[in-house]
Amino acid sequence: MAQFAVIGLGRFGSTASLELIRLGHQVLGVDSEPKFINRLADKLSYAVIADATDEQALAELDLLRYDAVLVAIGEDLEASILCVLHLKNLGVQQLWVKASSKPHHTILSRLGVSRIIHPEEEMGIKVAQALNYPMINQYLSLGHNHYLVEILVNNHLEGTVLSTLLKDTKQDVKTVLVKRHSKLLSPVPDDFILETNDCLILAGTLSMLESLAPRLV
Ligand code: ADP
Repeated sequence: MAQFAVIGLGRFGSTASLELIRLGHQVLGVDSEPKFINRLADKLSYAVIADATDEQALAELDLLRYDAVLVAIGEDLEASILCVLHLKNLGVQQLWVKASSKPHHTILSRLGVSRIIHPEEEMGIKVAQALNYPMINQYLSLGHNHYLVEILVNNHLEGTVLSTLLKDTKQDVKTVLVKRHSKLLSPVPDDFILETNDCLILAGTLSMLESLAPRLV
């Protein structure tokens, strides 16, 4: 179990906080508006009304003992930046910050924020990619143009040998694991025979994974 602090409990901050709780972590929620705190007070581990632009108020929260601090102050650029400056000054290392615009992103990266998040853009890209490749259930960008994708095997591929599905991509696409019913199978041999509803987790470059798309439909 890890401990996280989430500053700003709007839609993004409250959703992230509740998901962290669901995943079994402890969450301190901070917001300057009592109504947001009241709404979540009994669902979070701790909930505190505080102005995150006030360094003294932040210092009293003892944020250094948290594994990471997520700043989810939405549109108020000034408040977000002041809060980040104070958190940096207090020595918070693992700092995740939601950016609401390009200038906001630029300032946050100059301030040395470890992780800058653009929820709308990231979600937009994910939705477009999912529409483009409906057989791809989930994917995760690993950086350097590498992705991890989850592919559900449809009945056209029933009985296909994995190496046939992946032919000509062997060097660039790796089969990380196969989930069959409730079992995780790994490592996956080349002669593995696919069954309908197997869930393949593949890693590779976007272009190589894209080249598989016609074989999946
Ligand atoms: P979202 O798109 O995630 O809903 P919002 O801008 O609506 O984003 O939410 C931001 C949250 O941050 C609000 O709950 C707001 O009360 C909170 N917030 C804004 N300024 C401060 C501040 N100085 N200190 C603490 N919380 C703040």
